[in-house]
Amino acid sequence: MTKNTIFVVEDEVIVARDIQSRLQKMDYEVVGTAARGEDAVERVLDLRPDLVMMDINLRGEMDGIDAATNIRAEYDVPIIFCTAYSNKETLARAKITVPYGYVLKPFDNRELEITIEIALYEHQINVELEIARERLIATVSNIDDGVVTADRQGKVLLANAAAIRILGIAEESLLGSDLDSTFTLGAFTEGDEVVTLEVPDPSSEIVDQAVTRQYLTSSDAARVPIEIGVSWFKLRQEQLQVVTFRDITQRLSQEEQLVRSAFYDSLTKLPNRQLFFDRVTSRMISSDAGGDQMQGKDAFTVVLFGIDRLSVIKQGLGIEASDTVIVEVGQIISAALNPQDTISHFGGGTFAVVLYEAGEVGLGVVIANDIQAEIERSLILAGESSVSVVVSAGIVQYSAQYTSVDELIRDGETALQKAKQEAAGSFVVFNSVMYEEAKKFVYVRSALQEAILEDELVCCYQPIVDLESLEIKSFEALVRWNHKELGEVPPSEFIPMAEQSGLILPLGDQLLEQVCRQLAAFQDKGLKGFNFAVNISAQQFNADLPVRLDKLISQTALAPSDITLEITERIAMAAVESNFQLMEAFRERGHKISVDDFGTGYSSLAYLKRFPLDTLKIDQAFVRELALDSDDFVITKAIIDLGHSLGLKIIAEGIETEDQLLILRQLGCNLGQGYHIQKACTVDEILAASASNASLGKALLPVK
Ligand code: C2E
Ligand code: CA
Ligand code: CA
Repeated sequence: MTKNTIFVVEDEVIVARDIQSRLQKMDYEVVGTAARGEDAVERVLDLRPDLVMMDINLRGEMDGIDAATNIRAEYDVPIIFCTAYSNKETLARAKITVPYGYVLKPFDNRELEITIEIALYEHQINVELEIARERLIATVSNIDDGVVTADRQGKVLLANAAAIRILGIAEESLLGSDLDSTFTLGAFTEGDEVVTLEVPDPSSEIVDQAVTRQYLTSSDAARVPIEIGVSWFKLRQEQLQVVTFRDITQRLSQEEQLVRSAFYDSLTKLPNRQLFFDRVTSRMISSDAGGDQMQGKDAFTVVLFGIDRLSVIKQGLGIEASDTVIVEVGQIISAALNPQDTISHFGGGTFAVVLYEAGEVGLGVVIANDIQAEIERSLILAGESSVSVVVSAGIVQYSAQYTSVDELIRDGETALQKAKQEAAGSFVVFNSVMYEEAKKFVYVRSALQEAILEDELVCCYQPIVDLESLEIKSFEALVRWNHKELGEVPPSEFIPMAEQSGLILPLGDQLLEQVCRQLAAFQDKGLKGFNFAVNISAQQFNADLPVRLDKLISQTALAPSDITLEITERIAMAAVESNFQLMEAFRERGHKISVDDFGTGYSSLAYLKRFPLDTLKIDQAFVRELALDSDDFVITKAIIDLGHSLGLKIIAEGIETEDQLLILRQLGCNLGQGYHIQKACTVDEILAASASNASLGKALLPVK
């Protein structure tokens, strides 16, 4: 441990020596001595000892008390006065300098040592207290909360900087004022109790006041929202109260912001789905409580409006324009509603509306139609002066069968979807048949997803024959799905579903690979002389397809001409440059392209000249009605002749009778396919026929 250092001030040289040697014996370090007051001040401030022994009577201008006062003004050091005699007046002066002890000369060692130790200890404690006090003051004056301490009678004793700021009252006028008159409080929301800071009745028990929200009227008459609480404590027999309060203006606006973003759509400022559900749910509960059947005045209608072709607007005019459309549609719908009705923007231009007065669905339809008409009339797209905004509507009537808003909205959404499919700007009222359909759709779609993952879809192959020789020239791959619960699901049911949900891409990939591998397997077994035709959906017909085909062709060692792509007339004719380029890409590689369902689209044959095609497939509808004197005979004849003049081969599909076959032959149709010749066969059936040199129905396998 380092020794405590002491500075000795004594004008009698011999006494100074004596004190010095005594102190050293007590194990203190004497860092210096001085005989005159002025020297003492200078050297103590320079040396900064732990303690000063100060003789009161010094020769010269400055006595010990003056010297001590000067030292302590700048340096907080314990000072012990030593004096041989003292009068009352001197001692009184000495007291003011906060002495840490007196020793009277002559003093004995023990007395001296105790006085020094006490002085050092006391000084140490004082320093710590001072630090603690400073920290406390710094803390209280730096917090954002206002803190006001008052006595039992409510007289303000202390106020921190935040209190002064929030109240807007100067510290001088605050100290000593009455709490009750300083705080002008008011209820935060109507009906709330107003906090009072009156002096509590002396007889009654003192209680704390929990933190409550109030409005404070500050000195400049501003109404400040605050949180305020009062707690009482006892200090040295005295009851004191501390009022803490904080300005919550900012917090309130944050809270409001939070509520807004949680319950309101930021674009339209309308209630969002969450708030809508809450409102309609509570409405449903309250009408349930009535116990009545949901009819008459308790029934209501829900309408879902959806902006048609919003994605087209977004692509064509930009996101800002489409946002504006959404906002404006929301405004028109809102304006058409009664005050008690509820509207919400679910996002993406879909609005939900509850028409509470529409107890009959017919009334709901009328209101919805009016709104649709109003939107179409008043919203004309900027820059596209002839194009107006159109909304479709899905309408559902609330009835006792509904137990939740979710169910209502689900059905409304189903109806809306139906409406959008039917035509832009139309409406559909939900009914139970639609519900069953929707349920099945959801089920089948997830089953299909699973089937794709499990690779459960298998192709069958329908022969396409030369109509003269009935020899097989090609097989059309037709997908088959046998589901464990649903049974055989026809492709006409699940292919459109796969197209709608995007599942067609993985499915198409899978089937293309299956078909290529199957044809390669046939060729390995010596079954040759025909190619495979694969149906390609619109979404599959993109730039990835040639790449994918290249890979498969090289993996399976097929020739490009082994694969014919069947694309519908609609895809082929879509006047899209990229489609044309794609067709060129396939033709360059050596694949064949066949136009399926020909005659059902809008295209003229002459138009086909532009495209690199190989075959036309006349749609079943024409073949079905084919009789020598029918219109279809004339049309079919025209298609075949024109097709031939363009250098295309013609396939007739859906040949079901011998008559049809004969007529088609007579018309010079090259190829044919249909139940009359052979239905789609499994791979095993084809292999069995080949092994036994048998035909497939009327279709003949090429001779090996
Ligand atoms: P599609 O391409 O027009 O196929 C011809 C459909 O007519 C097949 O129905 C076939 O079984 C049927 N058919 C053949 N001959 C006759 C007949 O004489 N009379 C009648 N009434 N029908 C006949 P399927 O297999 O049910 O396929 C229906 C549709 O599903 C196909 O029409 C095609 O658009 C689609 N599809 C089938 N397989 C696939 C596939 O692998 N990929 C894609 N993208 N679509 C496929
Ligand atoms: Ca086809
Ligand atoms: Ca077809």
